[in-house]
Amino acid sequence: MNKIVLIDESLCTGCGKCVGMCPQRILYLDKETGKCKVTDETKCDRLGGCVWTCPVNAIKIT
Ligand code: SF4
Ligand code: SF4
Repeated sequence: MNKIVLIDESLCTGCGKCVGMCPQRILYLDKETGKCKVTDETKCDRLGGCVWTCPVNAIKIT
């Protein structure tokens, strides 16, 4: 299956803004790396709220 939510961990600062705004609650901060990760991306609405919220452009929706 193709990826839907692409997160560039080299850019992510772990600010958590995308986590708080995701209406599907599928984004979270990994406790070990402090980076954003996605759980069940098949639930993604593809509206890109996280993309617009991320201050460092670390997220892309395909
Ligand atoms: S596009 Fe929307 S539903 Fe999908 S991960 Fe981003 S904020 Fe969540
Ligand atoms: S908004 Fe961007 S920088 Fe902040 S946790 Fe999400 S992906 Fe990382």
